Amino acid sequence: MSTAMFSLTGKVSLVTGAARGIGRALALALGRAGAAVVLLGREAATLQAARSELEAENCAVTHVVADVGDLAAIAAAVDAAQQWRGRLDLLINNAGIEEPGASLTVCEALWDRVVDTNLKGAFFCAQAAARHMKPGSSIVNVCSLTSAVGVPGAAAYGASKSGLAGLTRTLAAEWASLGIRVNGIGPGYFRTALTESFYGDENWQRAMLAKIPLGRFGRLEDLAGATVFLCSDASAYMTGQILYVDGGYLASI
Ligand code: NDP
Repeated sequence: MSTAMFSLTGKVSLVTGAARGIGRALALALGRAGAAVVLLGREAATLQAARSELEAENCAVTHVVADVGDLAAIAAAVDAAQQWRGRLDLLINNAGIEEPGASLTVCEALWDRVVDTNLKGAFFCAQAAARHMKPGSSIVNVCSLTSAVGVPGAAAYGASKSGLAGLTRTLAAEWASLGIRVNGIGPGYFRTALTESFYGDENWQRAMLAKIPLGRFGRLEDLAGATVFLCSDASAYMTGQILYVDGGYLASI
């Protein structure tokens, strides 16, 4: 077996929510694997910082400013990404938010913010990208443990991420005929701005670590291998799957 099957050289990728956290780490992983990378986010300044990090590693990179809650902005951003190098091969649907809250008090506005970003945004990014994609292209949706299990206080988030898992399977089945594969990754517990509020609580940390067989929280670089794999020819016969990168959490509950 050759490691060439994992190479992304010659491919153009679009990563949403790429300014920080998991999206930024995945963008760097794709760049290191040879892909040209378009970073999508809401703020030019933070995107520029991420862009500098990739440029320092000699990756081909540009950025587009867009909010995935704005369908017209998505269409324009995806068009710009495609026009950059005349092709679009890879989409990482990573942009996401979480607003924890007891289900008895969740309001419509919170529900709409979370579901519109995590699920509706992901769908319309995929739709806009797929209109440009040629056979051999690949979409990776960033799912969650809540795509597979119930987590108290995460009604909107869990619904959005379970929906994203279902969407992954639906689009995989529908777009196989176009030669577009659609898979997901399911990160376990990774310390980012999204989850930082939990990590301040040492009791929470201890309780969570006890549930993770590998005995530690995820590091952002832990997500690189699974994502590059799902984007590459090494996974050419895989579609509709979600790879959980969780230190064994789901396997052990
Ligand atoms: P961060 O909050 O660090 O990053 C989220 C990114 O998404 C930011 O770059 C943010 O951009 C972007 N974003 C949010 N809303 C929008 C929007 N409307 N339009 C465009 N970009 C947007 O969180 P993580 O890196 O942790 O999360 C990334 C993904 O991973 C999410 O989908 C999350 O659900 C998922 N995930 C995270 C886990 C974890 O443990 N951290 C576990 C499982 C899944 P901006 O800079 O503009 O705010």
